Amino acid sequence: MTETPRPSDAVQALDRSLSADLDRLREEGLYHPLRVLESPQGHEVTIGGQSLINLSSNNYLGLNTHPRLIEATVQGARKWGAGTGAVRTIAGTQSVHEQLEARIAAFKRTEAALVFQSGYAVNVGVLSALLEEGDVVVSDKLNHASIIDGIRLTKADRILYEHCDLDDAERALAEAQAKGYRRILLVTDGVFSMDGDIAPLPGLVERAEHHGAAVMVDDAHATGVLGDHGRGTTDHFGLHGRVALNIGTLSKAAGVVGGYVAASQTVRDHLIQRARPFLFSSSPPPAVALSCIAAIDVLESEPELIERLWENTRHFKRGLSELGFDTGASQTPITPVMCREASIATQLSDLLMERGVFAQAIGFPTVPLGRARVRTIVTATHTREELDRALDAFADAGRRLGLLHG
Ligand SMILES: *Cc1c(COP(=O)(O)O)cnc(C)c1O
Repeated sequence: MTETPRPSDAVQALDRSLSADLDRLREEGLYHPLRVLESPQGHEVTIGGQSLINLSSNNYLGLNTHPRLIEATVQGARKWGAGTGAVRTIAGTQSVHEQLEARIAAFKRTEAALVFQSGYAVNVGVLSALLEEGDVVVSDKLNHASIIDGIRLTKADRILYEHCDLDDAERALAEAQAKGYRRILLVTDGVFSMDGDIAPLPGLVERAEHHGAAVMVDDAHATGVLGDHGRGTTDHFGLHGRVALNIGTLSKAAGVVGGYVAASQTVRDHLIQRARPFLFSSSPPPAVALSCIAAIDVLESEPELIERLWENTRHFKRGLSELGFDTGASQTPITPVMCREASIATQLSDLLMERGVFAQAIGFPTVPLGRARVRTIVTATHTREELDRALDAFADAGRRLGLLHG
């Protein structure tokens, strides 16, 4: 064993300063240790040697361990190697990347698509590339952090509207139009990741069109979940051709990693010239691209997976509400169990873990203060028996914490 060299005074000073920040987080109950899985991601996982029913992943369809994806990854690595060794715009675009983009465009029913390293990278890249000084973004107050960060990187103005509130979106759009901006872009999550509610997309699109605004939808939690074969919220609401930018991730229901924007050829051409994560960060490994193509194959050929996801969702939601939990406004497999205080959410999560269920507590700043919760996501791969055992654990833990009403 080699010893770690003694840190210099400057290195120690930085650590001391950071430690003070960390102590403050611990005092406020906002310090979150990492949970380390000793097993593949799945409906059941092992943490600290304990086998747990897993309600904390975004692995909606269990595609991460689907034989076709595993085979595509293995064969892809054998044929193409491990990494690409370049950014897309220099030497890192391989035919498999363009094949994946063509498949995504066809799946999303758009002219073109462009793949990024992650959903986060897409939002940051797209917003910072498309918007400049003199433009404005109109954004739902509860949009995902990656959208907020993307907006921060632009010199465009921003106008926020109340969460999923069509009247307030109308006010924001009218204000944007009256000020004579060059480009107006309305941005919303398709499904909101912490509440599981669906954006009122038809109303948003109609109002955006009325005020000369383009619409961008982030379907990270909707792809593989909503719409025909999991095509997402644009398809769910029959709005093909009216949503300029369809963002998605390959890291959730698709079971791999990466992000994409499905849009016009012109948008794709523009992003290739301007999107900074595309220009300055290396491209996804070819085996990843092939695995993502296999994921689209599975979405198109095994619709029973999505049916099972929704059967499990209905069963679990019904169970939670019959027990008397407050599950907020969720309409999707994301079901929050509302606890108000962060300390209650943490206690609920701990009690669940003692009872064999892994469901993470989520507090500020991921959700607003006083809106702490345990967030659950069921998947297609959970068995009925597992979901019933999880409901028993919730009943027992919820009773102890006085969370059951009615
Ligand atoms: C998870 C998520 C992302 C980020 O996707 P990654 O591929 O994990 O980087 C972006 N937007 C929303 C709405 C998300 O839920």
